[in-house]
Amino acid sequence: MGAVGVPTGCLYDGYLTILFPQDADTLSALVVRPENDRELAELRHPDAFAAAMQALPVFAPWTDPQRFEPITDVLPGGGLTNTYRGQLGTDGAAALPGVYWVGDAMCTTNPAAGRGVSLGLTQAHALIGMIAEDGADPAATALRFHAWCDEHIRPWFEDHVYWDATMLRRFAGVDLDLDAKIPSDVICAAAAVDPSILSGALPYTGMMAPPAVLAPFEERAREILRTGWRPSLADGPTRDELAGLVRAATAPVAAGR
Ligand SMILES: Cc1cc2nc3c(=O)[nH]c(=O)nc-3n(C[C@H](O)[C@H](O)[C@H](O)COP(=O)(O)OP(=O)(O)OC[C@H]3O[C@@H](n4cnc5c(N)ncnc54)[C@H](O)[C@@H]3O)c2cc1C
Repeated sequence: MGAVGVPTGCLYDGYLTILFPQDADTLSALVVRPENDRELAELRHPDAFAAAMQALPVFAPWTDPQRFEPITDVLPGGGLTNTYRGQLGTDGAAALPGVYWVGDAMCTTNPAAGRGVSLGLTQAHALIGMIAEDGADPAATALRFHAWCDEHIRPWFEDHVYWDATMLRRFAGVDLDLDAKIPSDVICAAAAVDPSILSGALPYTGMMAPPAVLAPFEERAREILRTGWRPSLADGPTRDELAGLVRAATAPVAAGR
């Protein structure tokens, strides 16, 4: 497992995969599909999941029955939405003075970028400092923390809302709109063509700088896209090929055997 180190995400033409190395020689193999892709939802069946694991080069060595054994059933998940609530009620005042929304209770982003823990810890750190300074007035602390969240957390939420919307269109076969804002994942991917983009992409992906750090590189990414270049896809089955594998593996289930 040492060879893997950090989660490895891969992009295909209609789905994502993430391999998560975890503690004590365990790992999670995750396939992410658009919620309206009912065929890939059938990956929840063990035979379909096993067939997909062996067909995906990124997973095959890590799900080889000679090396690893499953310790759970296939675990279907859902609701990988981007959400943001801040600290205030509809009247613009502290929703419940003395109670603060932190972590996923305050903001979620699509886990494909692995931001949730960092966003949550950053909030906790900021909030603890504010409570230490003006904790005697929880309503004021809530307002201050709300403003801090809007400045430091909301940009990550908005970044992912746009990224996800454009990715879902790409999954549906619609090309990128080169006259519109170029999504962050595509700007970062364009560093494969022009490494100068890495000076924005690396601080962004490492969350050492906010999404705005990519703005100076957007035009360069657009130029690269205008040459016809598009972000590369990982080796493995296309979405339709994966759906075919799933159908074949679930046919006995569908036939009632
Ligand atoms: C598939 C997936 C992959 C992810 N990958 C990454 C990643 O690689 N990197 C990353 O940074 N983030 C990742 N995230 C996001 C990350 O997991 C979350 O952002 C993070 O766990 C949020 O922490 P939290 O403490 O706010 O909430 P949680 O981790 O959800 O903790 C909340 C806890 O409260 C408990 N609880 C709920 N209700 C009650 C109650 N009434 N009483 C008592 N306890 C209660 C819950 O059981 C839970 O243990 C991923 C998320 C998903 C879904």
